[in-house]
Amino acid sequence: MSLALYKKKRSFNKTPEPEGGKKSKSKSLKFVVQKHDATNLHYDFRLEMEGVLKSWAVPKGPSMNPEDKRLAMMVEDHPYDYRNFEGTIPAGNYGAGTVMVWDEGVYDAMEHEDEPVKTQEKILLGELKKGDVKIVLHGEKLKGAFALVKMKGRGENAWLLIKKKDSESSKTDVTKKDRSVKTKRTLHQIAEAEGGEVKKRTPVKKRNSQPVLLNEQDPAPVKKKSLKTKS
Ligand code: MN
Repeated sequence: MSLALYKKKRSFNKTPEPEGGKKSKSKSLKFVVQKHDATNLHYDFRLEMEGVLKSWAVPKGPSMNPEDKRLAMMVEDHPYDYRNFEGTIPAGNYGAGTVMVWDEGVYDAMEHEDEPVKTQEKILLGELKKGDVKIVLHGEKLKGAFALVKMKGRGENAWLLIKKKDSESSKTDVTKKDRSVKTKRTLHQIAEAEGGEVKKRTPVKKRNSQPVLLNEQDPAPVKKKSLKTKS
């Protein structure tokens, strides 16, 4: 696997992001989810495979609810040491904005948890090729079984990140937990400390909210019947 695209997009004398090169020596596969306040706020979901991080940008972030199917756009492989990156990518650079390590931990190939890491990696790479990756996450926020499923007929990069039903699935919005697992800081605090732009965002509309029709928003005032006090 190549980091050529990753390197091509970045000038390492201008960004604090790692250039890469350090290979994993761990006995378990690692995953990280980074909250990235770029042009559009998103979560970068990364799985260690073959010494690099396979990466997907998830606009709405992960969900613990099996009913949610979260769009996950596959992006270029990132270096293994990127999983520790928290800070600010300066303006003018690719992906400019503040990055938080939102969740991290180890993960397994689902139903192959007892196999050696090398075997699990091989299975995962096969699943990746087929467009159906089944994993079990052991993070601080994300736990249990998940699937990454490639969407058919939606171009090369569109996948869905879906929680599978298990004892960890839940309807509670996990993105409400909005602090770094590394430093306990909020995005705002990281931006302030690392010289990033502190953005004020309007809250994202709820998924199920109905669009408001302008002419229904301002109905003609209903005349209230005057309350006659009984004498
Ligand atoms: Mn990103």
